[in-house]
Amino acid sequence: MKMIASCHCGAVQIAVAHFPTEVTECNCSLCHSYGVLWSYYAAGDVISVPDSSLTDTYAWAGHNVDFHRCRTCGCVTHWVPRDAKRDRRGINARLFPTHALEDARIRRRDGAGTGKFLSWPAGAT
Ligand SMILES: [Zn+2]
Repeated sequence: MKMIASCHCGAVQIAVAHFPTEVTECNCSLCHSYGVLWSYYAAGDVISVPDSSLTDTYAWAGHNVDFHRCRTCGCVTHWVPRDAKRDRRGINARLFPTHALEDARIRRRDGAGTGKFLSWPAGAT
């Protein structure tokens, strides 16, 4: 089974080594507006990324990261750090098949304030 995050129209496809076991809902102004759930990956676990011609990007605040969205359907797909030495990537977990997230835990991050992860939501184990 291929593990792929796909935008709504299918133009942007990102293959990963494994589906996420936990995803992050961040309350910073940008993530809140996007409505995304982030899954974080080491660069080596992202098997294929879309050609840059398929996405537009947006950067804000420190301009440390480029947020990509599909040029056709507008889905926010992933972010990539501008510093090539940073190993972390973020992929919008909402673009994985719904079954892939059934067992994933949702972590809430206080990106608008402390930058820290908050407690697990009620009922989470
Ligand atoms: Zn698309």
